[in-house]
Amino acid sequence: MAATKIKFKPVKLSAKRAVAAPRHAPVIPLNDRRLNFGNKWDYAPAPEDSKNYIIAPRHELFINGKFTAPHSGKHFDTINPATEDKITEIALGDAEDVDLAVRAARRAYEKVWSKMPGRERGKYLYRIARIIQEKSRELAVLETMDGGKPIKETRDVDLPIVAAHFFYHAGWADKLQYAFPGRTPRPLGVVGQIIPWNFPLLMAAWKIAPALACGNTVVIKPSKTTSLTLVRLAQIFQEAELPEGVVNVITGVGETGTAIVKHPDVNKIAFTGSTEIGKQLAQMVVGTDKRITLELGGKAANIVFEDAPIDQAIEGIIAGIYFNMGHVCCAGSRLLVQESIYPKVVKKLRDRIQTLRIGNPLDKNTDIGAINNKPQLEKIRELVQSGADEGAEVVQTQCKLPERGYWYPPTFLTGVTASHRVAQEEIFGPVLSVMTFRTPEEAVERANNTPYGLSAGVWTDKGSKIFKIVHQLRAGVVWANTYNKFDPTSPFGGYKESGFGREGGIQGLAAYCRLD
Ligand code: NAD
Ligand code: MN
Repeated sequence: MAATKIKFKPVKLSAKRAVAAPRHAPVIPLNDRRLNFGNKWDYAPAPEDSKNYIIAPRHELFINGKFTAPHSGKHFDTINPATEDKITEIALGDAEDVDLAVRAARRAYEKVWSKMPGRERGKYLYRIARIIQEKSRELAVLETMDGGKPIKETRDVDLPIVAAHFFYHAGWADKLQYAFPGRTPRPLGVVGQIIPWNFPLLMAAWKIAPALACGNTVVIKPSKTTSLTLVRLAQIFQEAELPEGVVNVITGVGETGTAIVKHPDVNKIAFTGSTEIGKQLAQMVVGTDKRITLELGGKAANIVFEDAPIDQAIEGIIAGIYFNMGHVCCAGSRLLVQESIYPKVVKKLRDRIQTLRIGNPLDKNTDIGAINNKPQLEKIRELVQSGADEGAEVVQTQCKLPERGYWYPPTFLTGVTASHRVAQEEIFGPVLSVMTFRTPEEAVERANNTPYGLSAGVWTDKGSKIFKIVHQLRAGVVWANTYNKFDPTSPFGGYKESGFGREGGIQGLAAYCRLD
C-alpha cells in the first residue's frame, strides 16, 4: 500500500491575530542569510558572536593528559547541523587507542587518584567548575554550532547545570562517608562512559563529575556528531592540571564504544543513549564482573487535569516537548488531556506553537534550532508520516524551512490512539502526540502503557491528586506543575526499558562506589 502523503492542516489563526502575524511574514535578514525563515515578528536579529572563538582545524584524542593522534590515522568531519558546514575534524579512535587510554586510566587510578584524599580531589573538581564558568559563553557557542540547539538553551540551561554538577560533586568528594553512614565507600576503578548527542557537555558532566568525586578514573566517548565540547573540556582538564590519565577522551564511532565496553580492565560502564544499543551493551558485560548503568529512551506522559492552570500547563507542554527540539529522553512527548478541556487545550496549543521562532540556533531569540543529524530528521519524518497513515491529524507551524541544514517544525498530532506508533515509539523530535482521558485511573493506565518509564508530568490544582497520581506512575522522575527541570541534587533515571541506575544526588554517587 502506497503511503499517503501527509496533508498538513493549516494552522488557523484568529482574524485579529492574523493581521498582526501574517502567515508568511517577510524574511528578516539575520547574520547568516541562509537561516532566515519563519520569523513572524520583526525582532532585530541578535546572533551570538561566534567569530572570536578559534576552532582548530583538527581535534585529537586525549590520552594520559596529552592530545594524541589516533592509531588509525583517520579523522572525520563534524558539521553544523544548521548549515551543514564542516566545523572541524575529529580523531577516529579505535580499540588500540582505547587500550592506551584504559592503561593510562589504570595507572592514574592506582598511583594517584584513588590514593588522593577526597578533599584534594574536591579541589580539582572546584577548579574545573570555575574554569567552566569562566569559559561558559564559548562552550555554549561551540555546543550550539556543533549540536544545533538554540544558544539560549546552551547558555542558560546546559552550561549552568554543567558547572553545577562539578560544584555539587566537588562538595561530596571529602564527605562520602556521610553520604553512606555506617558503610565504607570505595572507588570502583576505571570507568568507561558512553554518551549521546542531545546534551553533549551536560551528559559528560553527569558522568565525569561523580566518577571523579568517588575516586575513579575515566575513559569517555562522545557521540560522533557532537565531540567538540568534550574535547574542549579535556583542554580545561589540562588547564586545571588534573593529573594525567584521570580522564581520557576517545572520540569515535559505535565500534570505539564497543572497545571500551569489552576492554577487560574496565570496571564499570555508564551509558546514555538508545534502548537498542543499551541492550547490546548489557549483553556484552554478561559473565564479567563489570558494573553497568543504563539511561535509555523514554515516552513520557504529560498529564493535564481539568482543574490545572491551563495557560501555565500550555507553557509546560511547550517546554516539555519543544525544548532542545524534543531531543530529550525525558521529553513530555505524550500529552494526556482530560476530555472536558481537550478542545480548549488543543486550540491554545495551535496558537502557541505558531509563535515559536525557528531559525539560526546562534540567534538569542531562537526557540527551535536544527535537528542534530540527518538520520534523526529522517526518523522524525518517518514517524510523523506513520501517524498520518494511521489516521492521526498532523498540526504544524507554518513556516518556510531553509534548503540546507536539518529542520523540523514544531508539530503535534491529535486523534492518536494508544496503539499508534507515535504513541509507543520514541520520536526524539519536536513532535507531540495528544490523547485524552476521562478519569484519573484512566490517566495512570494510559501513562504507564509504554515499554518506557523515564519521566512524567502532572498538572492539577490539587496537591492531594499530585501525591496520589505520582505514586502510581511507573516513571523515575515526575514533575508536578512544571516540566524538564534538572538539578544535580535530584536523582535521575528510569524504570523498565528506560534503563537502570540513577544519576545525580546520593543515589548517583552510589553508582560510582563499592559500598562494603
Ligand atoms: P545511540 O544509542 O546509537 O548512541 C549513543 C552512544 O553510544 C554514542 O556515543 C554512540 O557512538 C555509542 N554507540 C553506538 N553503538 C555502539 C555500540 N555498538 N557499542 C558501544 N557504543 C555504541 O544513540 P544515538 O545515535 O545518539 O541516537 C539514536 C537514538 O537514541 C535516538 O533516535 C534516540 O531515540 C535515542 N537517544 C536517547 C537518548 C537518551 O538520553 N535516552 C539520547 C540520545 C539518543
Ligand atoms: Mn556536529
